[in-house]
Amino acid sequence: MNRFRHNKVSKKNKKPHLYKTKRTKQRDLFVPFTFSSNPCDFVLTNKKEIDILSQYILDYPNIETGGQLFGYWTFDGKPVVLFVLGPGPKAGHYNTFFMQDIDYLKRCASMLKSLYGLDHVGEWHSHHQLGLSHPSSHDSHNISSNMRTLGYKKFLLCIATCNSSESSINAFMFDSCKNEYEQIPWVIKDTDSPYRKIIKDDYFILPETKHPNMVNLFCKSSSANKSKIDYDKTYWLVQKGNSKILKLIIDTLKGKFPSHDFIPTIDKSNEVHVEIYQNGFVLEDIHFPMGFPTIPPNVIDSHGHDPYIHNKWIFNGDILSSFFSYYKNPNKY
Ligand SMILES: [Zn+2]
Repeated sequence: MNRFRHNKVSKKNKKPHLYKTKRTKQRDLFVPFTFSSNPCDFVLTNKKEIDILSQYILDYPNIETGGQLFGYWTFDGKPVVLFVLGPGPKAGHYNTFFMQDIDYLKRCASMLKSLYGLDHVGEWHSHHQLGLSHPSSHDSHNISSNMRTLGYKKFLLCIATCNSSESSINAFMFDSCKNEYEQIPWVIKDTDSPYRKIIKDDYFILPETKHPNMVNLFCKSSSANKSKIDYDKTYWLVQKGNSKILKLIIDTLKGKFPSHDFIPTIDKSNEVHVEIYQNGFVLEDIHFPMGFPTIPPNVIDSHGHDPYIHNKWIFNGDILSSFFSYYKNPNKY
């Protein structure tokens, strides 16, 4: 709808959203969004940063606001958001666009990079109560143009909406190889950002809203046990008692490797994966395919390879002991 388009920008304020915006007659790189069809696509962050985002969004319930997302990319192209930056003191808040305070952004980005090695992985801005929970055509145009200019292969854009008391935010991945952008789910770890604890608060403009209230987030199913999953009737988890075996595998892994996180997920084929993280980095993905336990799990390491020799898998009738006879340390063989 026209009134939601962000292209009516006055000459005085012609730099919405990204700090370098150039109008171009070139066709947008990206086609209108779809949902990601790749079950491995998601954005990883933690509850504290989601809360801070909610507070920043609720600071401006009737006008646009925004900021930048800092973190890094995993080996397989997932963004990890470890620090959310809000609007600077001289940011421009308008009904249909937001303009970051460039000096503030440069100062913060430089500090986050030089002291903590955090990269600028994405942007966020709020469409407040405009009724548009995805990028406008102008947002898409801006991102595609800036990615070309800056040579970025991937970029994360998060679009927030709110009312006076609740906020929500959707994540969109722009990928120059795919020529499109897709909505991707959040994976939110229930821990504070390690950086939020050590970075001096007084360096940043913090939100004034005291109580976060983020609702209706599109999240990746984070527990194989909680949701009702329509497994194929021959899948191993359909058999009575095998859900407990999966839980035992995860609990045993947690006991053996306490500094790692083990997140069970379900892919689009309704097959279970256990994703292994250390300090926010994905180390491995253990996939339990159709045919397991007759055939071995697929272990994908940080180079995208399965380092295990499949014919060493011996199913002795006991899934737990067969698994641990085969599987050793994460990323150590
Ligand atoms: Zn927008």
